[in-house]
Amino acid sequence: MNKKVLLWLVLIFLVIDGALLVYKITKPSKKHPTPIHKEKPHYKYSVFLTSDDGPLVGSRYLHQIIKDYEVPFTLFLVGKPVNSDSRLKPYLINYKNNCYAMLGNHSYSHANFHYKKFYTNPKGVVQDFLKNEKILDINFSVARLPGRNVWVLDNNHTKGEPNALKAAILLNKEHNYKVFGWDYELRHNGKGKVLKSVKEHYKRIKELLKNGKTYTKNQIVILMHDQMFTNDLSSKELGELILLLQDDEEIKLKKIDKYKF
Ligand SMILES: [Zn+2]
Repeated sequence: MNKKVLLWLVLIFLVIDGALLVYKITKPSKKHPTPIHKEKPHYKYSVFLTSDDGPLVGSRYLHQIIKDYEVPFTLFLVGKPVNSDSRLKPYLINYKNNCYAMLGNHSYSHANFHYKKFYTNPKGVVQDFLKNEKILDINFSVARLPGRNVWVLDNNHTKGEPNALKAAILLNKEHNYKVFGWDYELRHNGKGKVLKSVKEHYKRIKELLKNGKTYTKNQIVILMHDQMFTNDLSSKELGELILLLQDDEEIKLKKIDKYKF
């Protein structure tokens, strides 16, 4: 074979190989939806998606959704389940490695689900949060109280049931935590189906923002729970809602540290 032919063969090989590589990179994957990333220079509303109680079994799905849709998310974590069940550890590691997620504190014990008793001892509540911070190695001072919709962002931004509020104020004053409640909740029917249609949720979120019915104007904090996402159906529903929000020129999705007050 003369040198010229050989050179041509090498060139052809390189072109085909390059084309295959480009195809491989750009080929849309069936499993991964395409996130909508718009510039939105004139957006009006900030939307904060948050989920509580992870890491639990549903965290596996939620982690994947957050990654697939490249969507800013805030996860308020509880330490006790993961500390007593090593099968949950990989979900915690996933969350820690998920660059779209911000990890916040939702207490160690989740009040053992006895909220009234829990909040009669505000100092005990603070200790429970500090224990969680240490065990899960949480680096951001953002928190949500278990079982109570309480806000304490600073001295002038406080709201909620008086006993729980005392604990939240301590967390804020002594440990610099910002405590976030929520404006709207996505619920499920216990069988992994999100209640109401995705479009209804989207409509309601826009209404609350337009009518100024949120804790602070033009911002909305949405609550959901990791345990809602234990199957592909509920994951798909959340994905649809995320796409609607990402596509909306008026809305920008953000992590909770971007909340303004
Ligand atoms: Zn909770």
